[in-house]
Amino acid sequence: MSDQHSFETLAIHAGNTADPLTGAVVPPIYQVSTYKQDGVGGLRGGYEYSRSANPTRTALEENLAALEGGSLGLAFASGLAAEDCLLRTLLSPGDHVVIPNDAYGGTFRLFAKVVSRWGVTFSVANSSDPAAVRAALTPKTKVIWVETPSNPLLGISDIEALAGVARAAGVRLVVDNTFASPYLQQPLALGADVVVHSTTKYMGGHSDVVGGALIVNDAALGEELTYHQNAMGAVAGPFDAWLVLRGIKTLAVRMDRHSENATRVADMLSRHPRVSQVLYPGLPEHPGHETAAKQMKAFGGMVSFRVEGGEEAAVEVCNRAKLFTLGESLGGVESLIEHPGRMTHASAAGSALEVPADLVRLSVGIESGDDLLADLKQMLG
Ligand SMILES: *Cc1c(COP(=O)(O)O)cnc(C)c1O
Repeated sequence: MSDQHSFETLAIHAGNTADPLTGAVVPPIYQVSTYKQDGVGGLRGGYEYSRSANPTRTALEENLAALEGGSLGLAFASGLAAEDCLLRTLLSPGDHVVIPNDAYGGTFRLFAKVVSRWGVTFSVANSSDPAAVRAALTPKTKVIWVETPSNPLLGISDIEALAGVARAAGVRLVVDNTFASPYLQQPLALGADVVVHSTTKYMGGHSDVVGGALIVNDAALGEELTYHQNAMGAVAGPFDAWLVLRGIKTLAVRMDRHSENATRVADMLSRHPRVSQVLYPGLPEHPGHETAAKQMKAFGGMVSFRVEGGEEAAVEVCNRAKLFTLGESLGGVESLIEHPGRMTHASAAGSALEVPADLVRLSVGIESGDDLLADLKQMLG
């Protein structure tokens, strides 16, 4: 599949070559652990053991690389497995990382409770301000980590500006692109060194698989990551890889519809008397709106808002949902609602990443926008 093709075409065809044996137009689920060798070391397709490589996973990995404009994609058992592999590839005891003050709670927990035990230190900085990130660098810094839009506050960071800060300091810029997906934003083209995904979310898109990915452009780093992926072993299984590859085929049309519905939801909420603040980068009053408009094709499907009346009022709104499903996660075709303070971000309580207690987060799905607005109106009473 040539890189000349447009995103929509690559999403459907990259990595999806017809099965050489049968002509099946979709890569089969190679549910297999090992491969017959024609004489010792005589591998037929380069495959010897499915932790190292599996044809269904290879199809997904080629697709991921094409969509992010990278030279290599790697698929993992979850987003956090991808992050763990990346961090233990890039970092050694004594190294330092700058992490954002707004990030997925599990990412923060990985730094604070796991990686820090191995002698890696981190500082928290407001990544929507490149000068604040620059100020947080130390001589030991190896990585700047950023998530944009961020979870759950929908903060926007200027990837190009942060890539400049990283390059000047000789450190690597990692971008968690889960909220945007490569259809809306391509961090490698803006100067990032590594893209991270929880493919559980928009890439899979149907709330039926947990997975993660890393995409890079640098061949040497790609080799190191491939080595660690195999050495650490948290790979995506064949069926999971197949589900993500299947989901990606409709990513472009889904993201258009997610963005359209979320724009309508954000507009309605910003005029609702019970809502004190709406966090959506598509709103002109959002502090990151201009940056988002510059680096994103549309503003995505995630909307957060604060409810008048504090924590209990916010919880009450969530509990009244009918069409929106009360649940964690995001990025599926069905709309979800949650209370980050008590659900996804409970692990950030008491830290610099604690979220407001009156915050509600929506993953706006691709149902009828009218039906979604009606449900939100009845929830807010
Ligand atoms: C869900 C999520 C992760 C973690 O991914 P898992 O697949 O749940 O391990 C990382 N970053 C962001 C932004 C997420 O939303």
